[in-house]
Amino acid sequence: MRMKRVLLAVLILFLSAIATSALGYSQYIPRGRVAPGIYAIRNYNNGLPFVNFFLVQTGQSYIAFDAGSDSAQTEIALQRLDISPDDVIAVFVTHDDADHIGSLELFANANIYKWPMMYDGEIIEAYGVSIQAFHTPGHTSGCMTYLVDGRHLFVGDLMVNPNFARYDSQLQIANREMMLAMDGVESVFTGHFGLVRRVEFFRWWLGVHTISTCENPV
Ligand SMILES: [Zn+2]
Repeated sequence: MRMKRVLLAVLILFLSAIATSALGYSQYIPRGRVAPGIYAIRNYNNGLPFVNFFLVQTGQSYIAFDAGSDSAQTEIALQRLDISPDDVIAVFVTHDDADHIGSLELFANANIYKWPMMYDGEIIEAYGVSIQAFHTPGHTSGCMTYLVDGRHLFVGDLMVNPNFARYDSQLQIANREMMLAMDGVESVFTGHFGLVRRVEFFRWWLGVHTISTCENPV
């Protein structure tokens, strides 16, 4: 009887792992290396995983997308990955909310990029990568989304957990659909909602199939 229960528990775990991967969410608020050359730093709030930011490796250096909520936690997370804050040479900020810029002070060597320093659609070829910056207001008026090397999309809080839907304005939804509909996007890295690897499935799930070009609706 006990054996049956154990087997049932294993089966449920197995099926939920398959369901999670089918949805494209490999990890909720991930930590560590999440893709070749891409690392997630996780910060906590009251002991619970709260916010991500991401580092893209370029040679011996790193480019950050956002900067977390808590410097002390970020320092420990970087140590664990054997990354020095001094090796972060640029930070692209998605928006100015405190949970996304809390560790900026650690990155003394970094050039900081944020709205409105770049124009919508601007391509920045620097640091060995190509970064296209999009102005995607909605969550805040200064929200930016960054497309790295045409395939990795860093969206900050453009993508929200359905539980936070009250923050999801029509403008935000429109901008999110535009970003997700862009050709070539393979993975989406969010601030609070993990990362999505199967963007095709995610588009279908969100009903993003009507927009094929990206024009800012503002
Ligand atoms: Zn946030």
